Amino acid sequence: MLSQSELLATMPTGLYIDGAFREGSSGRHLEVMNPATGEVLHTIADASPADGLVALDAAVAAADAWAATSARSRGEILRKAFDLLQERRDAFALTMTLEMGKPLVEAYGEVNYGGEFLRWFSEEAPRIAGRYGPNPEGTGTMIVSQRPVGPCFLMTPWNFPLAMATRKIAPALAAGCTVVVKPAELTPLTTLLFAQLLEDAGVPAGVVNVITTSSSAEVSAPIIADPRLRKLSFTGSTPVGRTLLRQAADGVLRTSMELGGNAPFLVFEDADLDQAVDGALLAKFRNIGQACTAANRFIVHESVAGEFAHRVTERVQAFRTGPGTEDGVTIGPLIDGRAVDKAAALVDDAVAKGARLLTGGRAIEGPGSFFEATVLDRVPADADLLREEIFAPVLAIVPFSTEEQAVQLANDTEYGLVGYVFTQDLARGHRMIARLATGMMGLNVGVVSNAAAPFGGIKQSGLGREGGLEGIHEYLSTKYTLIPGA
Ligand code: NAD
Repeated sequence: MLSQSELLATMPTGLYIDGAFREGSSGRHLEVMNPATGEVLHTIADASPADGLVALDAAVAAADAWAATSARSRGEILRKAFDLLQERRDAFALTMTLEMGKPLVEAYGEVNYGGEFLRWFSEEAPRIAGRYGPNPEGTGTMIVSQRPVGPCFLMTPWNFPLAMATRKIAPALAAGCTVVVKPAELTPLTTLLFAQLLEDAGVPAGVVNVITTSSSAEVSAPIIADPRLRKLSFTGSTPVGRTLLRQAADGVLRTSMELGGNAPFLVFEDADLDQAVDGALLAKFRNIGQACTAANRFIVHESVAGEFAHRVTERVQAFRTGPGTEDGVTIGPLIDGRAVDKAAALVDDAVAKGARLLTGGRAIEGPGSFFEATVLDRVPADADLLREEIFAPVLAIVPFSTEEQAVQLANDTEYGLVGYVFTQDLARGHRMIARLATGMMGLNVGVVSNAAAPFGGIKQSGLGREGGLEGIHEYLSTKYTLIPGA
């Protein structure tokens, strides 16, 4: 097993620009913290706005040559990256656990999930297709082809440091685009390690550039304003997404926005309760509750709500909370102290308004930013946690009496990322597919993510889709040509 000191001894610490790791122009450094200990894990370069533009220069300079490579060769480089990731899985898993906090077993799960985007898009690259045929009048031939959109700026969040990066970088590279990547300042190490892996897989200098910075807004704005940039892809919160969309409007940039969620989890009276409880624990507590797809509101039929609450509480009480590097831990630390304060405030608000606290509910004394796995029952309609993303291991139950009411409660949010429905009635399942206002749905399952699936939301959960057949089109633009004669 790889040790922390062995891992950090070889960890890249510079900005990765034009095929080399280098110090930032300001000479400033950024401290990466371990949320399980509250200690500094590593110190890395902190990019200035000027460094961001140098990274964009490199992406622009490499763009034409990369776009001109064959789709097959781009696919083979991505496949090589997939293979290298399998070889280096221990290093990636440990890095994620140390900088983000998720239990090691989940970090290995993210290596698998994140790696699948490399494999999937290695297979999609040679399938970029066009159309050719006569116009309806029979007077001309129409050719529709796909071109890489151009240099891209990719911004990723801290909660899935590897998968959110591969979900953007792999389709961009497959499509023939060059990129500047800005990981979240809380979890930059995984992306630096990944830049090194891509270089080893044969990605040419300038095709992928990584800037790590503590000044996200200051470094991002000039890149987004630069007329050479053609695409902005962001995963993060809805408020930041709105700001970036406004900035992107000036350049009329292509944008993809994977934003926040407030997922409903519906348990009908005819659900298989064992299946619903298993699904609930996955949908809520995976990633310590810090997933955009995390179930936020458990809307449970009143005839089974008591039994459901009892069973999930028993299972939650058996969880082990602690550093993600320890064996048997199911709940690691939250990302930082602010996240703990937010969770505590949301639980206190719900309890003050009448919710019943069945287990947990409190922050745990440091070191580290831990919060108890929590179950709340009979959460009243005015509780803040029914409207806000909880982003913590807090399961909130709201009873309902009719299907109509369940749908109304589920859709009563500005978000529309994912919904979960548990029922054994096939007709009801189909009604829910039609009626839940979300981009994705799990029917009798608690996790829907897959590299082969189009991931994304409607309403204020975002724009565009990542993964699936759709994902590569976020990085392609359609060109139509007409030639006289059929
Ligand atoms: P965040 O919006 O705070 O930050 C995301 C990224 O934006 C980080 O890299 C951050 O440094 C940067 N950033 C922040 N302010 C900025 C600004 N003004 N200009 C430029 N960059 C800025 O989100 P987070 O807390 O890192 O991640 C959690 C959020 O991400 C949650 O809302 C979650 O639902 C969402 N998320 C969505 C998906 C999805 O696919 N829909 C996936 C994962 C996370």
